[in-house]
Amino acid sequence: MIPLREARKCVLSACQPRSPDRVRLAESLGLVLAERILARNDQPPFTNSAMDGFAVRAEDTKVTPARLRVIGTIMAGQVPSSAIGPGEAVRIMTGALLPEGADGVCMREMSEMQEDGSTVVLHRPVAQGANIRHKGEDLASGDDVFLSRTRLTAAHIGVLSGLGLESVLVYPRLRVGVLSTGDELVRDAAAISEGKIHDSNRPALLAQLRADDWDVVDLGQIGDDEAAITEVFAAGAAGCDALVTSGGVSKGEGDLVKVVLEKMDPAMMSMEIAVRPARPFAFGVLPTSGVPVFGLPGNPVAALVSYELLVRPALRHMSGMLNLDRPRLRAIASEGFHRLPDGRVHFVCVRATIQPDGAIRIEKSGQQKSHVLRTLANANALAILPDGPGAGSGEDVEILLLDVERLEAVPQRGPNFTSACITG
Ligand code: AMP
Ligand code: MG
Repeated sequence: MIPLREARKCVLSACQPRSPDRVRLAESLGLVLAERILARNDQPPFTNSAMDGFAVRAEDTKVTPARLRVIGTIMAGQVPSSAIGPGEAVRIMTGALLPEGADGVCMREMSEMQEDGSTVVLHRPVAQGANIRHKGEDLASGDDVFLSRTRLTAAHIGVLSGLGLESVLVYPRLRVGVLSTGDELVRDAAAISEGKIHDSNRPALLAQLRADDWDVVDLGQIGDDEAAITEVFAAGAAGCDALVTSGGVSKGEGDLVKVVLEKMDPAMMSMEIAVRPARPFAFGVLPTSGVPVFGLPGNPVAALVSYELLVRPALRHMSGMLNLDRPRLRAIASEGFHRLPDGRVHFVCVRATIQPDGAIRIEKSGQQKSHVLRTLANANALAILPDGPGAGSGEDVEILLLDVERLEAVPQRGPNFTSACITG
């Protein structure tokens, strides 16, 4: 058996970031910048008002009440027709260009305009610079906007659009092919006969890859057949950046994925990783295409845990991401998490909840067997139990948070901090 970190090191070093490509901003969400972005112009591009109100000369408002002559209105998008002089004010809207002569804006709510609109009275002085957004105060032309390796969110796309950019150089979105192997698998929706099962792994892996924001290619399911596996690998290599298979990597006689992989890549690794579940794992790189193949075990929990521990980090690395892993947090065990020492790290499917005091507590989400996938479906985290006796109730346990959205606060009486500030 080899430690997980060693298996991971081998896999990551063989999965380098793909060559960058230029894409339209609209297609860049979730991708990682392969260039440093510099501001092409000042941001904001001109000095403008931060409020609806009146542009004034601060000096004219020192003595209050100050009565000023309103000489016009500037809407957002307009260019002021004249400068303001002593004793004058201009009605101005948020985002409108500040007229020459003005050095402060009084909020509309703090002023009193005469009915005919010719005069405004201010009851408090306006400080110099009040409610003004200065040209270049966010970014000056030439400033660093985002560093290379930034992962683009909606807000990043907004900033880049605000700078007038239409495309960016990014690490391309990966296309990942998924294949299930096993003579026991029946074709989708076909009636099962004795000894046969439906395919869980391919639909689950395709769904997880989509959830993780990659494009997927369904390579179907095939039997334990060397020629068929070889053929699908060759076809997959032509249209995918990586292949993920399940089944056929352990020590059984029908375990041919690793046999095929070994013939295609003599440097392939067939591993026994010191974890539970997800011990068997095969990894190789296809000749000429350089496409990595991740051979996951057939047991459904093992396949998905293996995906979390090895495939997902490798694909993120290929996608240019610097942060490869799910968040790791400390949680309190609500029950005993006892285990026996066996030289392996155990990953236990748990349901994690946030307590009223902010602490995270975990409980097992069902039977911890590598074929009972419902337990993982009911989990939102994996508890990490290093080799040893495990943890007792009330003790700290490290968890790998799989699903932030399902990390719910436990119901409680009265408003908690979330309901108080968001839902009122
Ligand atoms: P294997 O890794 O091929 O030895 O398979 C281990 C276990 O996983 C066996 O019980 C298989 O029937 C099961 N298995 C393999 N592939 C799948 C699959 N695609 N969906 C559900 N179970 C599978
Ligand atoms: Mg099999």
